[in-house]
Amino acid sequence: MARRRLSEQQRSRIAGIQAKRRERVGVRAEAALEQVGEDAPQHGQVVARHGRNLVVATDGDTLVHCLFRANLDDVVCGDQVIWQLTGAGEGVVTAVQPRRSVLSRPDYSGRDKPIAANVTQLVVVVAPRPEPSGYLLDQYLVAAELAGMRALITLNKSDLLDAAGLAAFRERFAPYPLIGYPLVPVSAKREHGLDPLLAHLRAETSILVGQSGVGKSSLINALIPDQDAQVGRLSVGTGQGRHTTSTATLYRLPSGGELIDSPGVRSFRLGRIDRQQLEQGFRDFQPYLGHCGFRNCHHDSEPDCAILAAVAAGNIHPARLETFRSLVQGLAN
Ligand code: GDP
Ligand code: ZN
Repeated sequence: MARRRLSEQQRSRIAGIQAKRRERVGVRAEAALEQVGEDAPQHGQVVARHGRNLVVATDGDTLVHCLFRANLDDVVCGDQVIWQLTGAGEGVVTAVQPRRSVLSRPDYSGRDKPIAANVTQLVVVVAPRPEPSGYLLDQYLVAAELAGMRALITLNKSDLLDAAGLAAFRERFAPYPLIGYPLVPVSAKREHGLDPLLAHLRAETSILVGQSGVGKSSLINALIPDQDAQVGRLSVGTGQGRHTTSTATLYRLPSGGELIDSPGVRSFRLGRIDRQQLEQGFRDFQPYLGHCGFRNCHHDSEPDCAILAAVAAGNIHPARLETFRSLVQGLAN
């Protein structure tokens, strides 16, 4: 569908309406703040946001419906916050704690907009079908590296392969565990291999990413058996009626750890970066960066290139250099 072009006048009218709405809710939040009694400020974590409404999980794991001050405009799912009780099951968020990491996506105007905070681990899902794109996998790994998140690779739909097929499939991804990205074969359909995966999720806040059709929704359903119940609790918590799973939602895993999910989170991509950042995003390149003969070496065919030497010595997998080069091409375009 072609995006409707708004005239300057329409745009400023809409902006005006939105500002008024924000102001009104801001006033409501300030009014709610007035009611803050002697109750001490408490820690909490945002598990979902609907417009100006937040669902905050308390340290004791109850859900509180919170408003927030207008100056905290970009509070998102996963944020650690300070809040104060204003009524039964209701509160006001007064501060957002510094984030460990933030995932963003460009909004309609091309500006990066945060969609989830404090994600510590990216779980890249691949499957024998659809045919994996190494290029996309490496792109996710670069994104994880630059955002300071761990990453692991889940080989889903293992039920489609016999033992030899699975060994061959694993072999394709053999370079990754050597550079610190674990490989975890699972079958969401048969619920096989979930325990080793859950062990990797235990101490982390994770998100699942990957091509469409690899089984991300199926895996989420398998990993969070009480997802419906958690969503039901959120509906009560938002004070807004039904909670929809299309907004970023933080789920608690029964065996420990958290998963943040939403279609927007799943389709997050590497943002605009430059060549130097791209190099830094290849963790197997890191020991060699700065050791090339030329300071701005492109690792193409320059003499005295530390990266090419590392590939020749078997310390960097040639496929990684290849995807690095295609990603550089992408930057140029
Ligand atoms: P998503 O687009 O990544 O969320 O993928 P879905 O979860 O929607 O799954 C895509 C298709 O793959 C569906 O038809 C699923 O039933 C199927 N699928 C998911 N996991 C498995 C699995 O472990 N084994 C098999 N054989 N099929 C699976
Ligand atoms: Zn070089």
